[in-house]
Amino acid sequence: QAHLDRIAAVDGDVHAFLHVSDHALDVAADIDRRRAGGEQLGGLAGVPLAIKDVLVTTDMPSTSGSKILEGYMSPYDATVVARARAAGLVPLGKTNMDEFAMGSSTEHSAYGPTHNPWDLDRIPGGSGGGSAAAVAAFEAPIALGSDTGGSIRQPAHVTGTVGMKPTYGGVSRFGAIALASSLDQVGPVSRTVLDSALLHDVIGGHDPHDSTSLTDAWPSFAAAAREGATGEVLKGLKVGVIAELPDSGFQPGVSASFRAALAAMEAAGAEIVEVSAPHFEYGVAAYYLILPAEASSNLAKFDSVRFGMRVNVPGGTVEDVMAATRDAGFGDEVKRRVILGTYALSAGYYDAYYGSAQKVRTLIQRDFDEAFARVDVIATPSAPTTAFKLGEKVDDPIQMYLNDVTTIPVNLAGVPGISIPSGLAEEDGLPVGIQFIAPAREDARLYRVGAAVE
Ligand code: GLN
Repeated sequence: QAHLDRIAAVDGDVHAFLHVSDHALDVAADIDRRRAGGEQLGGLAGVPLAIKDVLVTTDMPSTSGSKILEGYMSPYDATVVARARAAGLVPLGKTNMDEFAMGSSTEHSAYGPTHNPWDLDRIPGGSGGGSAAAVAAFEAPIALGSDTGGSIRQPAHVTGTVGMKPTYGGVSRFGAIALASSLDQVGPVSRTVLDSALLHDVIGGHDPHDSTSLTDAWPSFAAAAREGATGEVLKGLKVGVIAELPDSGFQPGVSASFRAALAAMEAAGAEIVEVSAPHFEYGVAAYYLILPAEASSNLAKFDSVRFGMRVNVPGGTVEDVMAATRDAGFGDEVKRRVILGTYALSAGYYDAYYGSAQKVRTLIQRDFDEAFARVDVIATPSAPTTAFKLGEKVDDPIQMYLNDVTTIPVNLAGVPGISIPSGLAEEDGLPVGIQFIAPAREDARLYRVGAAVE
């Protein structure tokens, strides 16, 4: 009830939610009954959960921020949602996002942008700005996001929250409306590292419905976070800093906060080691071939027949109906990427574009492998600037894309990354995050280090 009251009070200004559940209190009451009946429920039972609208739910519409899916009701729950329900979390509502998770500001949502609770004239990050803003504005204690190139971590950075992108395959993608299938991962958003770890414990692990789901047995991430909170882990921890990451392009307050965080880790016994990742800076370029290619294929299913909206064209052919529906249903950014992706995949260009981008992806993976032979984690600023003004970059795709310069390589390599608040930038008083990256499957290490640093 407290969270519903808070939503009623502030969401008119923040607009974190696209849909608020009308039966959250009934679900909460049912959990109380289960608990009273002696059922052993997990630590998060009864905790309200905000769900990014990219995740399908049977009891609330799922739009992925697009007009083409307006009012769409899924016949099944995403695996992460089903697991959250089974653990007794209470779905509060569906959160706003850039259309089909394409963007860094939520301004590409077909339903209007979300506002950053720290300053309502500024962006909450994207694509998962709704989940991050809901948590930052105390409308929800915890949330689910998805991260293809930074959509959990960059919103966390600009809203002063924690956001974790798990190892690729660590959390099921079943029921996450696909953007780029080789990059997408679902993960938690929260106010503390321990909260993200608790939610990761609930949603993670093998899912036979996702063919890329890892069969690993995972350790308890909550235990890792609790262990990390003592700070012991920092003693002798080797923290890699990327030599090639230029200082230029980073807002002074972001760089200063990053250096201060490193100095504090060093003072606590960590060793800062320069590592070389010469291909890191080509991540954005490779990503904007791989992502549109995969997205153009994934979005082909919105064909006016199988899902969502249909625009009828009297006397028109099936192609006319398809074209009219996609024209009316998709926003400009989605169209831009579909066109880019189909072009990059077309006969004669495939090797030059998609093939080259895949080679760059391999080089980035090798950079990480070599770096992780020398260090335990790599640290970077989570994004180059603090929250910018709504409207500032929306007409400049390249500037928008450059928000993800430090987060994208992590998705390309399939390794885990977490963004932790690292204070406020001196020049504007807005939140800044530090990103830690670990080798694949070492998600627990990030919770240990993150809890030590926060
Ligand atoms: N901002 C990036 C993009 O526009 C990342 C999006 C995401 O992680 N879903 O593609």
